[in-house]
Amino acid sequence: MRKVLVHICCAPDAFYFLKRFREENPDSELVGFFYDPNIHPYEEYKLRYQETERTCRELGIELIEGEYDVEEWLRSVKGLEYEPERGERCSVCFDFRLERSAKLARDLGCTAFTTTLLMSPKKKFSQLKESGEKVASKYGIEFIAVDYRKGGGTQEMFRLTKEKEIYQQDYCGCIYGLFQQKEERSLFDLVSTFGRRPGSKEERLFIKEVRTHAELLELPTKEIEFPFLGWIPLEGGLWVKGEPVPSFIRPYSQSIRGKVRADVERIVGNTLYLNKQFVRIILLEEFRDLPLKEPEIATYPTFLVPQDYRETLLQNRIDARLRAEFVNSTSSLLIIGTYEAREFVGIPADTLQDGRGFASDDVKAFMERNIELIKDGYISLVLLGAHSIGRVGQRVFEEILGRSLEYTLDYGTALLDPKLL
Ligand code: SF4
Repeated sequence: MRKVLVHICCAPDAFYFLKRFREENPDSELVGFFYDPNIHPYEEYKLRYQETERTCRELGIELIEGEYDVEEWLRSVKGLEYEPERGERCSVCFDFRLERSAKLARDLGCTAFTTTLLMSPKKKFSQLKESGEKVASKYGIEFIAVDYRKGGGTQEMFRLTKEKEIYQQDYCGCIYGLFQQKEERSLFDLVSTFGRRPGSKEERLFIKEVRTHAELLELPTKEIEFPFLGWIPLEGGLWVKGEPVPSFIRPYSQSIRGKVRADVERIVGNTLYLNKQFVRIILLEEFRDLPLKEPEIATYPTFLVPQDYRETLLQNRIDARLRAEFVNSTSSLLIIGTYEAREFVGIPADTLQDGRGFASDDVKAFMERNIELIKDGYISLVLLGAHSIGRVGQRVFEEILGRSLEYTLDYGTALLDPKLL
């Protein structure tokens, strides 16, 4: 039996390619190699690797993860930053990844190698073939250039990606392609805030990690993606006499024009209203972020501040700055267990701005402790995306399944077993 190394770029391209390649080459043993230091940012790389791991496990194909040597990759394409996609930068990128793949193939005793990049509808087949054959001859092995895109292959690839609920990226991978494709919107792919904000790559990665673990435990899973109005804070804060005042920015706060200097003009309960640009300050006994129970429609620029600062704020002029963007976002909810479970337990998938939320290891341990209850249909778990900004995932769950969650755990609480809830 001959051994063939398959360089893998992402799970959507890999699933159909590997399946078909194995069917057409029953006498070949396949080894997958995920080698993609071109992918930016690192969270996106992790997400694509996570989904590739899930794909290879389902297909029973060994997978090796290559090094994430992003700096070396960046050096290799220096001077080609403004090249269009399919241009010279892409040739160098293919050479870089395929050279390392060919070397590993030879070291592992493979007589041939190929790449799932050949499946990608946006890549030039001839460019990939040329690169693959060049590096293959250097290492004395064969490059197998198969075009599975023809004859409905691309459509079948998209169908399988949807059916298997595989993460489908919306840009090729590198930072330059990202800028060219999304222009100023690429900022939202690159800005990484603390924790797992609603609709972020971190939140998606958390859901995928937990899903992978549930599948390893042979629990049924169903992931449902949904769109929502996202909100991303870019910068902001409060100052008195040049000194910063500790604050969190409440989600759905609109931007302030420039920097505003204002006074408190009205006090209602624990809320201070300033006399310019609708700025609001909510004073908290305990300084921490508060999840929104309902989606916010009134978009006052709002800061959460410790109660101790009340007198300082009342007696001084306050400087405030805030820049935030409203964006079309997507998130998802993950159901672990059956739809007919007696009880559904909701677990927020995102975290609050102060970092409170559930760790994936705790959720995995919770699943393991309660595996029989989940398998017997006593409970199902629901990971809820975008929960902190108005329980969006929970609303989608209720709308789609037509039933309510029996429990939804609060951020920062212990993952108690169902009998204790
Ligand atoms: S656009 Fe894609 S193929 Fe081209 S250099 Fe960037 S990551 Fe590589």
